[in-house]
Amino acid sequence: MDELLALDRAHVWHPYDSATSPLSTYVVESAEGVRLRLASGAELIDGMASWWAAIHGYRVPELNRALTEQAARMTHVMLGGLTHEPVVRLCERLVQLSPEPLTKVFMSDSGSVAVEVAIKMALQYWQGRGRPDKGKLLALRGGYHGDTLGAMSVCDPVTGMHSLFRSILPSQLFAEAPTIGFREPWRDADAASLEATLDEHERELAAVVFEPVVQGAGGMRFHSPGFVRRARELCDRHGVLLVLDEIATGFGRTGRLFACEHAAVAPDILCVGKALTGGTLSLAATLCTEEVASGVCAAAPHALMHGPTFMGNALACAVALASIDLLLASPWRERVARIEAQLERELSKCRALPAVADVRVLGAIGVVELRRPVDMRVVVPALVQRGVWLRPFGKLLYTMPPFVIEEADLHAVTEAIFDVVRDSCSP
Ligand SMILES: *Cc1c(COP(=O)(O)O)cnc(C)c1O
Repeated sequence: MDELLALDRAHVWHPYDSATSPLSTYVVESAEGVRLRLASGAELIDGMASWWAAIHGYRVPELNRALTEQAARMTHVMLGGLTHEPVVRLCERLVQLSPEPLTKVFMSDSGSVAVEVAIKMALQYWQGRGRPDKGKLLALRGGYHGDTLGAMSVCDPVTGMHSLFRSILPSQLFAEAPTIGFREPWRDADAASLEATLDEHERELAAVVFEPVVQGAGGMRFHSPGFVRRARELCDRHGVLLVLDEIATGFGRTGRLFACEHAAVAPDILCVGKALTGGTLSLAATLCTEEVASGVCAAAPHALMHGPTFMGNALACAVALASIDLLLASPWRERVARIEAQLERELSKCRALPAVADVRVLGAIGVVELRRPVDMRVVVPALVQRGVWLRPFGKLLYTMPPFVIEEADLHAVTEAIFDVVRDSCSP
């Protein structure tokens, strides 16, 4: 184990971390259910679902069976000129499950790329409709859409560190994020910034892009479904496409299969990823309407200008299908509702701690926002010592557990959060 850690320090560059003085890492030897088994022998209850993707937990027999059965036939063939049952069935399933008007599916390898594809679709759509001047995007402050440059350009300009990449990053327009909470009554005035920006810039705008209901990695904030409805109305009125990024919220996390269902709104373009394969393999998809697809293909080169090498990977599509089947066959609504109720009940006592600024819960998402940034070098080891795996960021200590987590294990997660905030976070 010491040898692995030394080699890890020498050669493995971890996400959003220094290559020269990295945070400590933990060697995971195996994982099963909601538990990560470390090389040290310790077991951690996983409150992160591996960045929100492992909704069924780990070493899931149904997913492993799909992988081995598919591997016995073929792991991958190019999607240029070829096709196969896993990709066809998966695209069919995504069309069935997603809002009605979405009928075309473009597969890719990661969420960021799914957002890049959505951006290209929106721009090519307007070129196909004879409006090449509509080439800008309008996003929300506090949003997160991925780490590639096009996706970054619609992330929050401050937390997304746009200043570092200004020389090559496209500059987009930003509206204020809504402030009305998920359960509060909606007022259209809360979308005034979106409306004003659309009024002023509709001639140059291709699309509005945002994460419906939950702004995830940009700050873990929840807003009223009324905002999603209002954005749809405003996009229609101003002749601008609506792109919803459900990479974090898709597949049940907020208590609906897709978060846009809370608002009964269908986007023109939808991005999914993360939980698509139940956390097994990297896979994402961008869905669009017939109207968008026909617009994209109306003008030269009459094709979407994108095509990743591993597009529609058969192994990933097979495991995504198995994951969706498993989700739909499970009592996922009850599970998410039970997690939500327990998080509400058990995290609320954090409100009394002086270090805590806010506690909020929606679906299988529980967030404790602190007054100061979390000291990762103190907080993560303190959680690990209590047998819990969480990955805080900024001022946020949060959990998005696998849906299969049981009450006692989730209790251990919320207790660890309370204890660590009380003992290791300064007001
Ligand atoms: C994680 C995430 C992305 C990026 O997905 P990757 O697979 O990390 O590229 C994009 N949008 C949202 C809302 C996300 O949560």
